[in-house]
Parts: sequence; C-alpha cells; structure tokens
Amino acid sequence: MRLALYPGTFDPITNGHLDVVERAAQLFDQVIVAVTTNSSKSPLFTVDERLEMIREATAGLANVGVEAFGGLLVNYAQQRGACAVVRGLRAVSDFEYEFQMAVVNRKVSAGSLATVFLMANERYTFLNSTIVKEVAQFGGDVHCFVPENVHRRMVAKYEAAKHLTSQ
Ligand code: ADP
Repeated sequence: MRLALYPGTFDPITNGHLDVVERAAQLFDQVIVAVTTNSSKSPLFTVDERLEMIREATAGLANVGVEAFGGLLVNYAQQRGACAVVRGLRAVSDFEYEFQMAVVNRKVSAGSLATVFLMANERYTFLNSTIVKEVAQFGGDVHCFVPENVHRRMVAKYEAAKHLTSQ
C-alpha cells in the first residue's frame, strides 16, 4: 500500500490545500493530512480545531485521514510507513524553501522518503492561509477561498474576538 503524508500548518485549511489533497488521493492508496504541532507561527486555530475542520472538509474522500504530529517529519513518516511527502507548489517563490526541505528530508531519511510536488488548480495560485485570515479579520468575505465549514468557524472566531475587545 502506498501511503503519502501531506504535512502543513493548515491554519486553516483552504481550497488550495483541498485541491492538493484531492490530487494526492488519486495518486496514492492512502493520504494522511498531517497537522504539525511544532509550528513557530502563532496559530488562529488550535490543533484540535484544525484537525476537526480538515476531517469535515475531507469527509467525502474515503482514502484520506487526518492526524497531528510533532517532531521530525522523517521520524513520523517512518513510524506510519509512508513512502512519500506531498507538498503543494504555488509559484517560484515556494520553490527555494520546498527544494531545501525535500533535499534535507531525503538525506535525513537515508533516501527512503521522496517528496512529490503537486500544482493546485491555477485559480488557487494566490491563496494561502495568512491572506485568508487577514481578509477575514477585517470583515472581508472569504467564502470562496475556504470550505463552508471553515468559513463558518472563521466568522465565529472573529466575531467572538470583536466582542471581547469591545467589552
Ligand atoms: P500555507 O500558510 O502556505 O498555506 P501550510 O503549511 O499550511 O502553509 O501549507 C502546506 C502545504 O500546502 C505547503 O506545501 C504549501 O505550499 C501548500 N499549499 C498551501 N496553499 C496552497 C495553494 N493555494 N496551492 C497549492 N499548494 C498550496
């Protein structure tokens, strides 16, 4: 069985991420969307909230699972028996960092872990979680950038924050 991991922060999952998950699910027997717990960014959503949103958004994909992981990706991949890591490429700007990570992961895993780069539909080239949060934070409509369940939670999150600051 060919198992691939799709690691990231997913704070929150966007339609660009989902597009990559769907493509990966067609290429591999099983895909695990792996939410990292050791991100240095200070996240909007807790790991549990992110896991739940991804679970809801990928419920229709039978061979996709969702898990959290900490520590070295290579160790987690070995533990799960994964043969590949999937990453999404948007633009040339992603390339340098992704190239570096892929080479390091290959070296650290002694050649056993391949990285597969997938291009999402070009309509998502501009999309990342940070920009979606920036727009939503100031009341902009982000419903076409994220799955419906994520949209609802973002609106609720920023509404709650607004109430807290106006008190
Ligand atoms: P980001 O804040 O960039 O969305 P993540 O760590 O959640 O960061 O991203 C996980 C992976 O998904 C990375 O490989 C990233 O390049 C990829 N990715 C994120 N958004 C898109 C998109 N719109 N199209 C293609 N790949 C994407």
